[in-house]
Amino acid sequence: MSQYDFDLITIGGGSGGVRASRIAAGLGAKVAVVETDRLGGTCVLRGCVPKKLLVYGASFAGDFADAEGFGWTLDGAHHDWGKLIQAKRTELDRLAGVYQGLLDDAGVAVLQGRGVVVDAHSVEVAGKIWTAERILLAVGGAPYFPDIEGLAQYGITSNEALDLDARPEEIVILGGGYIAVELAGVFAGFGTKTHLVFRADKVLRGFDETMRSGLMQALENRGINLHPNTTPSKIDGKQVVLDNGTALKTDAVLGALGRRPNTAGLGLEDAGIRLAKNGAIIVDALGQTNQKSIYAIGDVTDRVNLTPVAIAEGQNFAERIYGGKTRDALNYAQIASAVFSQPPLASIGLTEADAAKAGEAVAIYESSFRPMKNTISGRDEKSMLKLIVRQADGVIIGAHMLGIDAPEIIQGIAIAMTAGATKADFDATIGIHPTTAEEFVTMRNSGRNSR
Ligand code: NDP
Repeated sequence: MSQYDFDLITIGGGSGGVRASRIAAGLGAKVAVVETDRLGGTCVLRGCVPKKLLVYGASFAGDFADAEGFGWTLDGAHHDWGKLIQAKRTELDRLAGVYQGLLDDAGVAVLQGRGVVVDAHSVEVAGKIWTAERILLAVGGAPYFPDIEGLAQYGITSNEALDLDARPEEIVILGGGYIAVELAGVFAGFGTKTHLVFRADKVLRGFDETMRSGLMQALENRGINLHPNTTPSKIDGKQVVLDNGTALKTDAVLGALGRRPNTAGLGLEDAGIRLAKNGAIIVDALGQTNQKSIYAIGDVTDRVNLTPVAIAEGQNFAERIYGGKTRDALNYAQIASAVFSQPPLASIGLTEADAAKAGEAVAIYESSFRPMKNTISGRDEKSMLKLIVRQADGVIIGAHMLGIDAPEIIQGIAIAMTAGATKADFDATIGIHPTTAEEFVTMRNSGRNSR
């Protein structure tokens, strides 16, 4: 008999924690998951899933407008926000149930309440101490508000924005990151007058400059009011005052100014776990903290904050520890991601600026064109594609796209890049015609060398 109550206690029932726990249990470990809320975590309950459902809902507005060019007359189109939010809530209930079923089927115990680490092998939940040979911290992150006058009092976070009973007529969104840009598309699509206020000259820092500029143009064309190089000085009830003196009247203020790891009050300082300045748990390449029996995965480690990364980290952890498998650390440098803006943007690998910074000699292939759908629809919006090719061996080290279906297309490109595809491999691939994706295999003569 083990001296502990469990082999593994996972704190956090989100995508990463649930994956690690059920795989570990399937491999014979006795596992408990501690969760305060329903199962599902940020992605399922407050992030990816509700966001994408609302993006789908909002994108019909663009489709209706495009349809007219194809001969449709759509009279009296009307949107019922309450009906959409109710349908979304029903779907989230279903998914939380699916997560519960996954753990039940795997024989994982769910301990309801807030988990606090007491020492290297103990966790307190609702006043009771449970012990485990190992502890996995998968508590994720939460929206963060910097110190801006009135924001804490009047602002809402993405948590609330994805679950409003009524749609605001006007919204000011602070920030220019993933969440700000995605939710700007959602609200603008449904007809809310939308302002996007961000301190940089462009949205989406870290993405390829060409895509960032293209997206800014597209957002503006779709009626979003952009306020670059601007910060809010004060939020005063229904008014946001900007540092350039402009005052924006609004029904709602959404702060999308970044997220922070959820480590406050988790008992980590007492347990001697090393944290970074922003509260992230410091782990080695395989997720182990400085306390040998305690591991961490996902957003709480603030490495690459994406659900599939947390899931991969959880799966690797479980297979390594309980399945005796050798698992290398993930290649964090080459992970595809998408921004579900309208139009969407997706990307993998190095940007042109990253390549220059790394001193890589590269050839840049790019294409910018009006997709066929937009010829008749009349929508003045281009799709943009870019490949970054290492000159030394022709390997594709970056791929970027802005436009219809970009996330679906880049997912396929990501497989090719994971397999080490070269530009010659892309050239040898016969395209599917007529598609936008075929541009990735027909960009022959536009190579521009970085040096
Ligand atoms: P991001 O870090 O992407 O963006 C934060 C934004 O807030 C940036 O524009 C940043 O500006 C700005 N900002 C931060 N502090 C201040 C300040 N004090 N004053 C003014 N502006 C400020 O955060 P998000 O909240 O949008 O998203 C968090 C994370 O969640 C992302 O990094 C991503 O990993 C994940 N996510 C992924 C999604 C996906 O994959 N589709 C969707 C949503 C979230 P600047 O750039 O100048 O620093």
